Amino acid sequence: MCIFSGNCLCGKVSYKCYVKPKSIFNCHCEDCRRATGSVFGTNLFVPEDEIKISGNLSSYSHRSDSGSTMTKMFCSNCGSLMFGRNSNKKNIMSIRAGTVIQLDLIKPEINLFMDSKVPSTSIDENIKKAARMPL
Ligand SMILES: [Zn+2]
Ligand SMILES: [Zn+2]
Repeated sequence: MCIFSGNCLCGKVSYKCYVKPKSIFNCHCEDCRRATGSVFGTNLFVPEDEIKISGNLSSYSHRSDSGSTMTKMFCSNCGSLMFGRNSNKKNIMSIRAGTVIQLDLIKPEINLFMDSKVPSTSIDENIKKAARMPL
């Protein structure tokens, strides 16, 4: 059964996910800020084999501070950033929360990389926070 779904800005890339997100993070790291063009990124994490994607994706890979290869996937037509993979985390796919249709599902559990957040970004004090990546 499809639990949640999403699409890019132009609609050519869409996906269905068959499980609830395993975790949801707000990430204030510089990579997320640059990649999203926003002051922080919100990611949902799901097992890669529980998501079905249709449409053409382009990708960009770069190396993270920890040495792993990060791959970012975006709609090859409109450029919306949608998914990510980390070579250190097998079978885990991240989904950018802004692409999700079921808005009530997006409940971040933690703010990560507080050290590099934009000073004016307000933070929900009711959820956990970490200076960097504690996991
Ligand atoms: Zn698109
Ligand atoms: Zn990040």
